[in-house]
Amino acid sequence: MLKLFDDGVFVLNLAIWLQATSQVSGQKTALYFGKDADQTYADLAGSVARLAAWFIQIGLKHGDRVAIFMKNRPEYLRLLFGIWHAGGVVVPVNEKLHPKEAAWIFRDAAVSFAFVETALEEALKAVIEKCTSLTLIPVSDMGFTPTLTGDVVLPAASRQPDDLAWLFYTSGTTGHPKGVLITHGMLSAMTLCYLIDVDDVFSQDVAIYAAPMSHGAGLYSLIHVLKGAGHVYPRSGGFDPLEIFDLAEYFGSAHMFAAPTMVKRLSTAAKLLSHTPTGLRTIVYGGGPMYVVDIIDAVEVFGDIFVQIYGQGECPMAISVLSRRDVSDRSHPLWRERLASVGRPQSFVEVQIGDKTANPLAISQIGEVQVRGQPVMSGYWNNPQANEKVFINGWLMTGDMGVMDESGYITLKDRSKDMIISGGSNIYPREVEEALLTHSDVAEVAVIGRAHPDWGEEVVAFVVAKAGYVLSDEILDGHCLDHLARFKRPKKYITLAELPKNNYGKVLKTELRKWLKSE
Ligand code: AMP
Repeated sequence: MLKLFDDGVFVLNLAIWLQATSQVSGQKTALYFGKDADQTYADLAGSVARLAAWFIQIGLKHGDRVAIFMKNRPEYLRLLFGIWHAGGVVVPVNEKLHPKEAAWIFRDAAVSFAFVETALEEALKAVIEKCTSLTLIPVSDMGFTPTLTGDVVLPAASRQPDDLAWLFYTSGTTGHPKGVLITHGMLSAMTLCYLIDVDDVFSQDVAIYAAPMSHGAGLYSLIHVLKGAGHVYPRSGGFDPLEIFDLAEYFGSAHMFAAPTMVKRLSTAAKLLSHTPTGLRTIVYGGGPMYVVDIIDAVEVFGDIFVQIYGQGECPMAISVLSRRDVSDRSHPLWRERLASVGRPQSFVEVQIGDKTANPLAISQIGEVQVRGQPVMSGYWNNPQANEKVFINGWLMTGDMGVMDESGYITLKDRSKDMIISGGSNIYPREVEEALLTHSDVAEVAVIGRAHPDWGEEVVAFVVAKAGYVLSDEILDGHCLDHLARFKRPKKYITLAELPKNNYGKVLKTELRKWLKSE
């Protein structure tokens, strides 16, 4: 029997969800590497218990941090559950980070063990020499084999809902990243929100991991474990639209999490095919702004498979949701407005639009998005100053500006720091970006403000033209004049071959600002 109480105290280790699934669906394939079956649920649960026993043998204590610095592959899921089963805390590190950045996180989190790509081991050793209490464990495509073999009977460690499960370092566009304390309780609330608000998952479904497991895609693996679905790791270890189409067609009922830039790449790739790809049941998108033209295009290509979520490291994947119906129902009078929104609050959070002191603002007034509820973090790792700033009167200050309508739909404007104030008027870059993207020759755009002696700031647009097209300032300006108030239109257009993006596909406006300053 699975234990939910220890000495009368409620315990909740996420690892027990794997045990539960292995009891009812033991013979079902849990993991696939490409199209090849890798392990059944019973085998996976066995490997996880062995891994956990091995961790304990080599000295892992409850609450010790273990980093995973590697690309997506089946080993990721085994490690995740093995670390939790043993009572450890996962520190996921995007494999595309520079070894120096990864080493900084290892030190800050005081990790005891780090599972790292074999190819990165030497570079890491060079930068973590001084950190003697850390053991690096290389992992290759062959996985890694702990020395323990045979059957191990080891119950999952007793963890309480407030115990740390996942120490997530925010992408940190300025300064060092901050470690967000994410607990077993927060992730179980996120999982329930998914099943209540976002989508159903059935055991015949598979999750395809195209986005990094170190972020939302990794957290969503919990839902698919709980529901006994399959977990498919593309052999490329990354995101290749044609590989995704091939896998989705093969498995027939696939879910995936994708950043908006990935959705756009999927639509572009699908339009070049002679047939519409099949087998994608649900794509949950989020993590950055999805422009209205891009999601309309995607629905035209793939049909009603899209659901949007809005979250942030501090409230992972669980602030709001724009349902499949909201995304696809063109007959709704507010369809377009809703497409531009991030939907309504998820079930376990309260969301308000408030001022700097967390006082609620009236409907339709723009303010900061503020959140409280079960999936919200209790704070940052070892960072009392940051905690003081991010919580006001119990509300998490997301740093995102937005507005809520009377039906509870939230439309994000921009991060407060991205808002442009020109001649005393607020201009939200997102609005200018949406307008420019409606031009048929524009592929991508990013709008920022730069200091101006008379106006305070002026609007500058970085624009990428679609392949084979050339965009002039006159064309772009004419288009903006047709779609925007005069004062909002960019005073300067800069065309680029591509926009700088971080490892999660988010446009790096900080880089664009630096570039403008150095011009
Ligand atoms: P991170 O903590 O790295 O996941 O970044 C979270 C930030 O990404 C949020 O605070 C938002 O600014 C942005 N974000 C997340 N989801 C969405 C979404 N659905 N639409 C627009 N922006 C989003």
